[in-house]
Amino acid sequence: MTAHQRTTRLAPSPTGALHLGNARTFLINWALARRNGWRIVLRIEDLDGPRVKPGADTQAIEDLAWLGLDWDLGPVYQRADLTPYREALDALSRKRLIYPCTCTRKELEAAQSAPHGDEHDLRYPGTCRGKTAVTADSAWRVIVPDETISFSDMIAGDYAENVQATVGDFVVATKAGLPAYQLAVVVDDARRGVTDVVRGDDLLSSAARQLWLYRMLDLTPPPRYWHLPLVLGTDGRRLAKRHGDSRVATYRAQGVTPERIIGLIAAWSGLCEWPTPMSAREFAAAFDAEKLPRTPATFRQEDHAWLHAGSH
Ligand code: GLU
Repeated sequence: MTAHQRTTRLAPSPTGALHLGNARTFLINWALARRNGWRIVLRIEDLDGPRVKPGADTQAIEDLAWLGLDWDLGPVYQRADLTPYREALDALSRKRLIYPCTCTRKELEAAQSAPHGDEHDLRYPGTCRGKTAVTADSAWRVIVPDETISFSDMIAGDYAENVQATVGDFVVATKAGLPAYQLAVVVDDARRGVTDVVRGDDLLSSAARQLWLYRMLDLTPPPRYWHLPLVLGTDGRRLAKRHGDSRVATYRAQGVTPERIIGLIAAWSGLCEWPTPMSAREFAAAFDAEKLPRTPATFRQEDHAWLHAGSH
């Protein structure tokens, strides 16, 4: 790797099978990389504690390869070496930027004045700030300032968030003693020289937290972010099991070809008006980030039927 080589990563969480929404994000990520000559690292995000499912890593790798995607390094497993995360936590600790926290979710919910629809939006009120006593079940939180963090996203445009006002001091190491997602992603991206992060826009808000960690860990420059609109069901909620089985592996088992799946994703990504069968390479050749719709795609019953129309 040369110092200036642009690098991205495909970062599946082995918590379940890839569905059409994940497939779309990975395909666009891969297409951007292959069009622009970026290096691709495949990283398996296996730190997600109890949600990790045995075999889901192999399944994700198979699904990506079956779709026609490839990579230049990996699969790299986060659990293979926890040292870099420990070093990052030590660095934050030396700067007195983290503190142990023993609050339970219940306590946090009780402290929240307004009811919240989404548990991820729970703001931490700073209850344990200033505490130093570490117990076996302490999580670690990083201190965030009451200031706006802003950046310009390559797809979503200008974004600004006061992290202290939205989530407060956030968790960087879990009670299980493992690095939390926000820290792990920053440490991994920085050490692999990732310059371009392409992912679903459900993580747009996380980018503000991650930029704060880049600053506190003196990891510069931070990456460019490309947050893609998600694929939704007809009820307007993000694609999930409740919308039926849209797993890539299921379609594959039913004889649906990768060209059909990619053809549907192409229609969702501004490449063509109607689904048109094509290979991953053809998708990459035709992909244009400028034409990518800035609104979510919707998975409809007729899309499902179209996929099957070409099965054998
Ligand atoms: N592993 C995460 C996912 O599958 C992606 C995290 C990231 O790209 O930062 O949604």
